[in-house]
Amino acid sequence: MTNNNSESSPRLVAVSNRTAYGSPRAGGLAVALSDTLAETGGLWIGWSGKIFDVPRRRVLNVDEDGVSFALIDMSKAEYEGFYLGYANSVLWPVMHNRLDLAVFDSDYFAAYKAINRQFADVVAAQTTQDDLIWVQDYHFFLLAKFLKDAGCNRRTGFFLHIPFPAPEVFRSIPDHLTLAAGLCAYEVVGLQSSHDCANFARYIQEEIGAEKLDDERFRIGDHILTLRLCPIGIDAEGFSLSATSQAANDASRKLARFLGERDLVIGVDRMDYSKGLPQRFEGMAVLFDKYPDLHGKISFTQIAPPSRSVVEEYAQLRQQLDELSGRINGDYGDLDWIPIRYLARGYERDELAGLYRLARVGLVTPLQDGMNLVAKEYIAAQDPDDPGVLVLSQFAGAADQMTDALIINPHDRNAVAEAVRTALNMPLAERQRRWRALYDGICRQDINWWREHFLAAFDTAEGQY
Ligand code: ADP
Repeated sequence: MTNNNSESSPRLVAVSNRTAYGSPRAGGLAVALSDTLAETGGLWIGWSGKIFDVPRRRVLNVDEDGVSFALIDMSKAEYEGFYLGYANSVLWPVMHNRLDLAVFDSDYFAAYKAINRQFADVVAAQTTQDDLIWVQDYHFFLLAKFLKDAGCNRRTGFFLHIPFPAPEVFRSIPDHLTLAAGLCAYEVVGLQSSHDCANFARYIQEEIGAEKLDDERFRIGDHILTLRLCPIGIDAEGFSLSATSQAANDASRKLARFLGERDLVIGVDRMDYSKGLPQRFEGMAVLFDKYPDLHGKISFTQIAPPSRSVVEEYAQLRQQLDELSGRINGDYGDLDWIPIRYLARGYERDELAGLYRLARVGLVTPLQDGMNLVAKEYIAAQDPDDPGVLVLSQFAGAADQMTDALIINPHDRNAVAEAVRTALNMPLAERQRRWRALYDGICRQDINWWREHFLAAFDTAEGQY
């Protein structure tokens, strides 16, 4: 199957928790899907973003920018149990290897199942057997299973944007077998990195007796599951153009006024414990400690808008970052120099592109990350004649593809410091060579490649359905 708009192609129906309706550029998943759906047309089913005191089973159908949306409301209890609870206090921490932060509450799982069933009902009502249902992310492990249990036959694919952890970690979720049965009800499961695929393959073989048929296919009972390695990309050429837009130039001029002659080291992340922000700040402190000659010569600017700030851990992280940046600036700063600038706010995509372009070093050091689109955006935004250098965590999915970055262990503060120093001292020819290889890679495996590569997996799945 190809995925153009020809009459023979099935209609694509995306399902995700948040849609791009009303804010087409909010976050990695929304960016990826709005680019994809605007190009292919189709229906996007998701949460309306509205919360009501009591459950109300309303589905709003609206069109925006060539995409049809079916938007589902949630009650306060559903939002707390499904979204804040199971999705973000169980699955998010465990899948990012933070078992210590998981809150295993059986009420959360009940809410998770109820929302998955409710979304499955909407999919059943608003789609036909000819449609292709593409479900996004950890909020909906169980959706295909509910569809199939209700006798609703659809071709379904699932893409997991976050990591799939080692089986030993996944098994610690009390409901792991139910979640796995849910995942295995899809025809196609797409994962971000070879590491994720190896973890998932080992888990389903060890735990539910899946039989490996070839590199991608597994038999589970009478069902064949295609497991596709499918790293998500960005609109690399489009992002590259954004970096020289008016808004980009304005933002970069504003920051350049503050920088003066100093080199910019930039970090851009949602404020999340998976992003390794305290470790990154500590790494910069080591740099300032070891290399006094850099004092006054560089500025580290971290942009990190709060996310899910109602969850306790995020509030703690915010406090930790406030304290760390205060301490480091107190220890190393001077009358005319602030070593770390930390901005807890978001910027428009074009503005961000301009800031990336200005930065000599892009510091992307998550402790665990499904992909990390910031790494790709940073590369896309560079000036080919005078590109900056990407320092990238080995634990970002992007490290699989972006091997010409300076790859480091984000837990190793010395390694972070040394990589930043190497990047700052890197000769132009080497910067250009590394950048060219990285840029060619993100153009080759861009957002369109991602969509086509995922959907092409249904070709091999054809006939099994
Ligand atoms: P995650 O999906 O875990 O947040 P990614 O790096 O994959 O991480 O995607 C983050 C997306 O959010 C990127 O597209 C990035 O441009 C955007 N983003 C991150 N920080 C900001 C910010 N301060 N302002 C605006 N957009 C941001």
